[in-house]
Amino acid sequence: MAPQPRSAVASGAVVALALALSLSPAASAPLRPRPQGARAQNPIHPGCITAGAPKEGVLNVHLICHSHDDVGWLKTVDQYYYGANNSIQHAGVQYIIDTVVEQCLLNPDRKFTYVEQAFFHRWWTEQTPSMQKVVRGLVKRGQLQFINGGWSMHDEACTHYVSMIENTAFGHRFLKEEFDYVPTVGWQIDPFGHSATQASLLSAEVGFDALYFARIDWQEAELRTRERSMEMMWEASPSLGPDAAVFTGAFLDGGYGPPPGFCFDQNQCNGGFPVMDDLCMEDDNVAFYVDKFVDAAQAYANNTRSAGSATQNVMFLMGSDFQYENADGWYKNLDKVTHEHTCILLLI
Ligand SMILES: [Zn+2]
Repeated sequence: MAPQPRSAVASGAVVALALALSLSPAASAPLRPRPQGARAQNPIHPGCITAGAPKEGVLNVHLICHSHDDVGWLKTVDQYYYGANNSIQHAGVQYIIDTVVEQCLLNPDRKFTYVEQAFFHRWWTEQTPSMQKVVRGLVKRGQLQFINGGWSMHDEACTHYVSMIENTAFGHRFLKEEFDYVPTVGWQIDPFGHSATQASLLSAEVGFDALYFARIDWQEAELRTRERSMEMMWEASPSLGPDAAVFTGAFLDGGYGPPPGFCFDQNQCNGGFPVMDDLCMEDDNVAFYVDKFVDAAQAYANNTRSAGSATQNVMFLMGSDFQYENADGWYKNLDKVTHEHTCILLLI
């Protein structure tokens, strides 16, 4: 018998920041002005910030703050790391890791998910012992998480499986040695085409709880959206059978970016449209963002296996190619949408 699909949240390592969004009528209650001084704690549902697992009876929206950093594409690996030749493509990975670490240290609610160890290893070796100690703390507290964990997010279409294994093993060995960390989620969001080898050998057999990818064939995407089967158990090895099956999810829009209107990246989206939260201002737009967030969450829920489940879970990917070079823009705006003016419940 085919194993039953597990909830996306079973892959705990991908949960960078989990939010439970109440869909009760109170969600449309009028917003109140932000109190001066201390951070407002859910003006509509005081005390609804909570901790622990996703809740029943609400739609749990998991925000994954992430950056997709190609280890060589339009520029060389060195140019991507240092941010050279930005006229070709604006990208400087060293600043991404610098600012994400800085922002996570400022607020323990903030989390980040990183993938490409070729870049993280390089950044790590440049840090002082005291900074390395601080970063080990972020990893230990789950604020900095690693998924996939290979040296790069390797290609699946043209590569030999030996190269895929070596790429993965190299990155995983670094994470194990430095952090005693073992990634539990596969993350192949940008390869063009997805192989059975990746699912069976380099996901299930590696011990991953889940494998996520984008760039699904458009016809299959259409069908799976219609049938709400974008999440599935992929039995990718006829010889190994269910033992090599892995929970697999593709993303509804075919890409791996945030819902439309929610890119707050300073470089790649020109900062997007910042959340303006002074309710005395004419341009206040918090209510607009909250409505948009609820709409997007409901749209995701209606088109995934979440529909009709007792515990509904959907995942928003908050980031994309070489984003978070100025992480403050992302976190500051997400904090405003999720913490201060809404009845969105924070799960840590
Ligand atoms: Zn890429």
